[in-house]
Amino acid sequence: MTSARTRSRMIDRIKQLGVEDPRVLTVMGHVPRHVFVDEALSHKAYDDTALPIGYGQTISQPYIVARMTELALGAAQHEKVLEIGTGCGYQAAVLSQLFKTVYSIERIAQLSKAARDRLNQLGLRNVRVRHADGSLGLPDAAPFDVILIAAAAPIVPEDLIDQLSLGGRLIFPVGGEDQELRLIERQEDGVIETRLEKVRFVPLLPGLA
Ligand code: SAH
Repeated sequence: MTSARTRSRMIDRIKQLGVEDPRVLTVMGHVPRHVFVDEALSHKAYDDTALPIGYGQTISQPYIVARMTELALGAAQHEKVLEIGTGCGYQAAVLSQLFKTVYSIERIAQLSKAARDRLNQLGLRNVRVRHADGSLGLPDAAPFDVILIAAAAPIVPEDLIDQLSLGGRLIFPVGGEDQELRLIERQEDGVIETRLEKVRFVPLLPGLA
């Protein structure tokens, strides 16, 4: 169920959908996705689908994790990344192999704790999980080379642009029912915003839970 063959099928699927960066494909071939889902669902862990992780939340579809990671690698530097919406910690684990330090914020206490324990068990010492509302970013650890939001903001989170380094990238889904992935790049003379494909994420919610 979690064999090398099952994992390579997931990677083939991600490639078919258009993610080509070998760094992303290699890392996603190694990070054990089944460790991030409930044992009862581990037979589905390498299917290209989102899965429930409790508390009404989901682990993102592998393709979308790959796509956002590929976009993240387009940033000018790969020192510090902020993920908003840790969930089970899978995206953070993938990022930890490609960036020097990963900060990841989760508003639901139980998910945050479980993700921290899991990432520790995997020996991923460069991920810092915080239980907090990530809507305002993490000003005390800014600037970041990448800010990746794993939940859909109702409007473009303009405030977070100030927490990007030069050449930094903000990658986020925006919208309510109809959502779209967007990329904002911070450059010397302003920002460039690119509208990408339609996506489906859980909503970014205010406050702690
Ligand atoms: N990154 C995950 C996907 C998580 S789903 C993965 O690897 O699959 C999105 C997560 O964002 C949920 O766990 C949800 O609780 C969290 N979330 C929603 N609003 C948030 C906020 N304001 N601050 C921090 N986390 C938030």
